[in-house]
Amino acid sequence: MFLSNQDVIELTAWRRKLHAMPEVSGEEIATAAEVQGFLADTGPDRVISGLGGTGIAVVYDSGAPGPTVMFRAELDALPIEETGTPEHRSQIPGKGHMCGHDGHMTMLAALGRQFSRERPKRGRAILLFQPAEETGAGAAAVIADGKFADLTPDYSFSLHNMPGLPLGHAWLKDGIANCASRGLKIVLSGRTAHASMPETGISPVPAVARLMPALTALSKGSIAAEDLVLATVTHAAIGEPAFGIAPGHAEVWVTLRAMTDGEMEALVTAAETLVSEIAAEARLEHALEYHDIFVHSENDPEAAALLRAAMEAEGVPHEPGETMRGSEDFGRFGSVSKSAMFFLGAGEDMPNLHNPNYDFPDDLIPIGTRIFARVARDILG
Ligand SMILES: [Zn+2]
Ligand SMILES: [Zn+2]
Repeated sequence: MFLSNQDVIELTAWRRKLHAMPEVSGEEIATAAEVQGFLADTGPDRVISGLGGTGIAVVYDSGAPGPTVMFRAELDALPIEETGTPEHRSQIPGKGHMCGHDGHMTMLAALGRQFSRERPKRGRAILLFQPAEETGAGAAAVIADGKFADLTPDYSFSLHNMPGLPLGHAWLKDGIANCASRGLKIVLSGRTAHASMPETGISPVPAVARLMPALTALSKGSIAAEDLVLATVTHAAIGEPAFGIAPGHAEVWVTLRAMTDGEMEALVTAAETLVSEIAAEARLEHALEYHDIFVHSENDPEAAALLRAAMEAEGVPHEPGETMRGSEDFGRFGSVSKSAMFFLGAGEDMPNLHNPNYDFPDDLIPIGTRIFARVARDILG
């Protein structure tokens, strides 16, 4: 075991420090500085900051030709008030590390310690701490950043901690790991009227009443059959909270989800067709906006095989598991490299991700680190 007891103690303390100082997507300034400071004494060959916003890439270069292997963690926390009461609970009101990204960062920091003691023999290892995973904006921003051009990896790896799975058991799948998803904001505009004369206005009420079940009814298929399509209405608002006004304005928010980007395109077309038909029949103007766009995330067979071999070698129990309904912006790195991600069990009795009392289990730190370190050694020597 390359991590000493002292390492584990220090890394655990650092994970808890990160947990107490959550920052939300795109605002991870103190977190990025903390990462940079913690890894300074590992003697990286290059540190690139401000990547895609607040991102940090830490490069350990062998100096010899060879592939570039990137490991990705996320800097961001969530706008969720922590209700758990560990000693290291969030010190920032309304914000919390409820997705375990504090643990993912710590595993990469542990890898940095490993590379500082034993440089790769060929090629380069890159630790990428990316911003804004939760909004789906961060990975795309990193890839679009000019500073990323000479960091572009041959292989990219990531993991996500997964409550509900036994602690330390892994799910690793060939093919689709996470669904594509996007938020669709539908704005309907008519004309307000006095509530005593609603017929003189154009109310969005009947259209909203039709639209919500019609959108929901676009859902079909299942994860098991690899054809799940899901439309979930998440929010609706009509007019103003007043008794005197017949409304002239409404919003419906719906999250669209599909197992592939192709099926997402078909779902988007179906949703847009529904909206324009229903709005036109009700004589309403409509506008559409998309938010939080995630592509599907697909494991490359060679990259997945490398992870699987590392799990075997490290004695980590693993099975294919199933595609996650949730989305993950790591999928973007599949367009520039051979990429694969896996899910590491956080324990069967843990609260779900994004629950207000989630706290990453520290016992996973050495397990995830060992898998990544083994992959790095297998590729880079
Ligand atoms: Zn999350
Ligand atoms: Zn997450």
